[in-house]
This record gives sequence, C-alpha cells and structure tokens, in this order.
Amino acid sequence: MIRSVALIVPCYNEQEVLPVFYETVRGVMDGMPEITFTLLFVNDGSSDRTLEILKEFAEKDKRVRYLSFSRNFGKEAAMFAGFCNADADAVAVMDADLQDPPTLLPEMIRILNEKPYDSVATRRMTRKGEPPVRSFFAHRFYHLINRISDADVVDGARDFRLMKREMVEAIVAMSEYNRFSKGIFGWVGFRTKWLPYENIERAAGKTKWSFWGLFRYSIDGIVNFSQAPLAIASYMGILFMVIAFAMVIFVAVRRLLFGDPVAGWASTVCIMLFIGGLQFMCMGIMGQYLAKTYLEVKNRPHFIISDTNCENPVKIH
Ligand code: UDP
Ligand code: MG
Repeated sequence: MIRSVALIVPCYNEQEVLPVFYETVRGVMDGMPEITFTLLFVNDGSSDRTLEILKEFAEKDKRVRYLSFSRNFGKEAAMFAGFCNADADAVAVMDADLQDPPTLLPEMIRILNEKPYDSVATRRMTRKGEPPVRSFFAHRFYHLINRISDADVVDGARDFRLMKREMVEAIVAMSEYNRFSKGIFGWVGFRTKWLPYENIERAAGKTKWSFWGLFRYSIDGIVNFSQAPLAIASYMGILFMVIAFAMVIFVAVRRLLFGDPVAGWASTVCIMLFIGGLQFMCMGIMGQYLAKTYLEVKNRPHFIISDTNCENPVKIH
C-alpha cells in the first residue's frame, strides 16, 4: 500500500513557471489527503530566482524540500540526486514546466495500489507543437536504440513515472557516471504500466534543449547502452579486408595476362581517401567509448549539493 509519495522536480532557470507549477501540484496533493506528499525540488544551478522561489515555497509549505546544486549538473544528475534523497513508498520525477501533467498522479497511485505493477510510466502519443525535424529524428533515434541495445526505450516515453521503492533502489544502485535514464528505467526491469497522453506544450519559460543538445544526448544514449557501433567498426574492417584480398588477386591476374599499363591512379586516390575516412570514423567510435570509460574510471561525483532543507541529505554522490 502506498502511503507516501515523493515528487522530484528538476529545475533549471524555471522562475516563470514555478508558481503555476506549485499551485497546480498543490491542488492535486490536497485532493489526496490519505497520501503524505513530499515535493522535492532540485535546483540545478539556476542563475535566475529559482532558488529564492523554492525557499519561499518551503517556508509556506512543510511538504516542500529543496536540494540546490553548486552548479548546473544537468537533468540526469538532478534526477539522480532526487532518487538518492527521496524516502517514500513511491517516487516520481516530474518536469517543472507542467509538460508532465500532475493530474495523472491519482490514477498512477491507484494503479500501483490496485494492480500488480511496480511502476507507472507515461508516454506522449503525439509530438504536437514540436518542430517536425525534431520529431522525425526523435522517432529514428528510438527505432535505432531499440534495435541495437538491450535497454528497451519506448518511443515518446517521458521521464515522468511513479516507481515503487524497490525500483528506485535499483536505479540508485546503478551509479554509472554517464546516465541515460530512459535506458536505465528500462534496463532495471520491473513490471511497468504505460499511460499514454496527448503532448502538452510548456506552460511558461523556454525549453533547455537545443537541437544539437538533443543530438549529443542521443549519441550518449546509444554509446551508453549499446556496443553495436564498435561491432560495426570491426565488421567493416573484416569486409574491407575481404575486398582488398579479392582486389589483390584481380590485379595480380591482370598483370600476368595483360602486362602493366600505368593507369587508374584517380581511382586509387579515391579508394585511399575512402578507406582513410573510414579508419578515422572507426577510431572516432572507439574514442567515444574510451572517453566514456575515462569518465567512469575517474569516478567523480554526479552532483554536489550546496544548500538544502532536507534532514540528513546525501550531499555528494
Ligand atoms: N532541467 C534541469 N537541468 C538542465 C536542463 C533542464 O534540471 O540542465 C530541467 C528543467 O528545469 C525541466 C526539465 O529538466 O524541469 C525538462 O527540461 P525542458 O522542459 O527544458 O526539456 P523538454 O521538455 O523541452 O524536453
Ligand atoms: Mg519541457
């Protein structure tokens, strides 16, 4: 039975939307008096008034907790800090911009209580209001990562999901430095119920994601959850060796039969350039994995908390 729920809200420069967010969530929380809620805001090094606003909330409302980072560590780190510091029967991550509708919460809690699921996740069925190029690449990305990795990532999946304690503990135990939560949620397993909903546009403020930001994030996702690019690089090596071998025989036979007219230097240059490019690409792929390994080996903390009103917080992890 779920008696307490913690809502983790990563906030990075969200001063415009926080008051609306708080009012909306408060309405939902007040509608469920049987549940003890904690609103755990994570201020991810905002440079605007976000932290002051959070402190004002905390003064008025005992349910509000905040963790404030010493700098911007990114949403993944903010979620991780939330998971490390939340102790409730069930925990959910929710964006501050109301794109994750808090009105779904009662339904999510009901499902966890009544049905044999460990987590209730949400996915948006449409990408209304998003640039079409972005949607196109997003779809391609989900298709690709599901084919080449064992993390099953659902297209349109949000980070907004309510999870039981056990699942949160499994996620915290995955302490890898390069975090890709959509993959981690799928990787740890557990029984998940999917709730579809229509996409909602940001209530106020601006998105923190540029197209290139998302592109890099998707490459990270692939490198973190799949070894396929490495395998492709080595298969290409084998393929080219076979082709080269065939060509050696062809050239030798032609030399024996027809002598050695000097021709074809243009095609030689093309082939050299092509194979040179391919080698750089494969080295680049290896470099990506090496860089990730380098960061993991350094074992740096995911986040550093400089200010909080939590009791016994995990401040560095
Ligand atoms: N966010 C964060 N740190 C960052 C970037 C974003 O904590 O470095 C938070 C942000 O405040 C918001 C959530 O992550 O609550 C989702 O960000 P956004 O709405 O910009 O992303 P989108 O919905 O466009 O994917
Ligand atoms: Mg958003």
